[in-house]
Amino acid sequence: MTSHVRLVWIYPDLLSTYGDQGNVLILEQRARARGLSVETVHVRSSDPVPDQGDIYLIGGGEDRPQILGAERLRKDGGLNRAVAHGAALLAVCAGYQIMGSVFGGEEGQPVPGLGLLDISSGRGERRAVGELAAEVDPALGLPTLTGFENHMGVTRLGPGVRPLSRTIVGTGNGDGTEGCYAGKVIGTYLHGPALARNPALADLLLAWTVGPLAPIDDTWYQRLREERLAAVLPA
Ligand code: GLN
Repeated sequence: MTSHVRLVWIYPDLLSTYGDQGNVLILEQRARARGLSVETVHVRSSDPVPDQGDIYLIGGGEDRPQILGAERLRKDGGLNRAVAHGAALLAVCAGYQIMGSVFGGEEGQPVPGLGLLDISSGRGERRAVGELAAEVDPALGLPTLTGFENHMGVTRLGPGVRPLSRTIVGTGNGDGTEGCYAGKVIGTYLHGPALARNPALADLLLAWTVGPLAPIDDTWYQRLREERLAAVLPA
């Protein structure tokens, strides 16, 4: 375990919608609040992905940048090496789909992914757009997930992953589940950004890297969570 956290933010020039970059800021803030030192590398799509990071983040995007991002990541190989070394990864929406074996391009054509999650995605009939709330897999011990989704993709989970959560409101993967995880790799459709709305998820990623974390003042996070959950869940 370490007191220094290396964050890697992948392809901000291609994949970062609905405030996904906020996930990086939340991890930085919550790590520093615990006295950890943080180093963040922003990797543009023209640059190689370093394989020595601790936590990797990738966001959502439109179909073309998603296809381009997947091609470059496949060719580069750095993210696959990092995960093989034991790095953690949070992949959102287009980034989530890229981690599977295949996803649907702008005409629905199959585009190969990185194979870091046992999932495959295709295009659904209708765009899933709006607020989402979901109960997290009890094995992870996290409170209700809250976020915003906007995607055409539907995702089928294979036996190599577990659903991250079960939807209460919203579409998620399209089968009553939202996101998935395997080892230290987490995929989700949630924007918001996801870690601002779900600080416990940020702490899970940090704890996987540095071990148990001291509690911090979560008043503002809790207010945001209560407001967003109250907007979609019955009182
Ligand atoms: N292009 C993908 C889809 O529509 C991802 C969208 C996104 O990242 N917001 O499913």
